[in-house]
Amino acid sequence: MRCFQVVWRCRLCDTIATETADHRMPAPCGRPARQEWHTRGTDVEKHQVIIVGAGPAGASCAKALHDRGIDVLVIDRARFPRHKTCSGVLFGQTQMLLRSYFGCLPPDPVYCSPREINAAAIREWKPDAGSSRYVWEIAKDAQAFSEVYYNIRRADFDHWLITRSGAQLRDGCSLSAVHSGHDGVRIAVRSGGISSELACDYLVGADGGNSTVRKLLDPRWAAESPTVIAYQTYNYFQSRGDLPEGQWTVFFKPEIGDILSCVHQKDDTLVLCVGGFKRRSLKKSMQAFREFLVRDFKVVFRGLKRDEGCLIRMAPPCLGDGRVLLAGEAGGFIYLNGEGISAAMDTGFRAGVAVFEALAGGSALERYAAATADIAAHMGLCMQKLHFLCAGPAA
Ligand SMILES: Cc1cc2nc3c(=O)[nH]c(=O)nc-3n(C[C@H](O)[C@H](O)[C@H](O)COP(=O)(O)OP(=O)(O)OC[C@H]3O[C@@H](n4cnc5c(N)ncnc54)[C@H](O)[C@@H]3O)c2cc1C
Repeated sequence: MRCFQVVWRCRLCDTIATETADHRMPAPCGRPARQEWHTRGTDVEKHQVIIVGAGPAGASCAKALHDRGIDVLVIDRARFPRHKTCSGVLFGQTQMLLRSYFGCLPPDPVYCSPREINAAAIREWKPDAGSSRYVWEIAKDAQAFSEVYYNIRRADFDHWLITRSGAQLRDGCSLSAVHSGHDGVRIAVRSGGISSELACDYLVGADGGNSTVRKLLDPRWAAESPTVIAYQTYNYFQSRGDLPEGQWTVFFKPEIGDILSCVHQKDDTLVLCVGGFKRRSLKKSMQAFREFLVRDFKVVFRGLKRDEGCLIRMAPPCLGDGRVLLAGEAGGFIYLNGEGISAAMDTGFRAGVAVFEALAGGSALERYAAATADIAAHMGLCMQKLHFLCAGPAA
């Protein structure tokens, strides 16, 4: 297989500039250039499996493959540890999967305060009826899970998970193109300002809710799926006011957001989350939520520590195509109201096992489809019980 290199060609006079590790040379004529791929004479770096994304799906896939002796490379466009928009709660099923796939729960430094959130302390609040229990996780295949959940820092959790997988991580490396053939897959990546090509027998797209791999496989997915944007702020506070300690409080207020709004504590901050379909101003939603908590719950906020956002595409699962498998949110796997770490871990691990078996012969995709039928069925059950939206997507 040949290696690809980026060259920049002038749109008018066709003079060429190449890209170096340090900088991109302008075309000699100085005019704007267009980008092209050119083959170079060297052999391309090849692995049996490349995983795109080092979140819970990618890390679990890597663990399954690395433990089975497969040469696997994980690439991630972010530098680890990296933040991920998430309430950062390990639900019961996630804990079970961690024990089963990784042999243990995370070490002490991954947890924040309060360390435990009891299922009964997740409350939906209504102005006329007060608070009632809000169910985030339901039994799967008649198996109930622990109702003591863990409050963690996602950046530290994901970093621990990918490290514990034992697989090689190349962070700061972003995928931009995929060429899949019957005998293997080539991908274009960019790392440290340099574009290059990698090759593998199988590619696993575990690159989250805005997956580049899925967009390349299915260009209509991003354009046509109803999409919710979630926005989260970490706020220092002087007083929780009437918000009880250890409680995770959920509100359904269409005047604030199109999805539930919620608040819980992480260390010295109150984490506020709002969300909406495209075109809703989430900065205004967040401001309205803060004002509501100040007015109705007497919360006293101090400064903002940080904020973050991401999108959730509400589309049916897609397992991949040929030698490219999709896991976690890239494949559309997420349970109920955004409980996604367990769906990501479980599909990632099973994708890894399917690929391992297919390396000896047969179709990885068929094995993966059979292995994830129960996960798809559980997603269906979660959808039936969905209680997440204040309003439907705009027509
Ligand atoms: C507001 C909110 C709160 C949530 N709270 C919870 C919760 O408390 N508990 C829970 O279980 N779930 C929660 N979820 C869901 C959960 O965060 C996700 O479902 C889960 O992170 C999905 O894992 P993943 O591995 O599929 O993707 P991610 O965790 O998103 O990982 C994808 C990785 O791919 C990388 N990547 C993306 N594009 C590229 C590219 N082109 N090249 C290379 N790398 C790339 C990204 O940098 C990222 O590291 C929440 C979600 C939201 C939005």
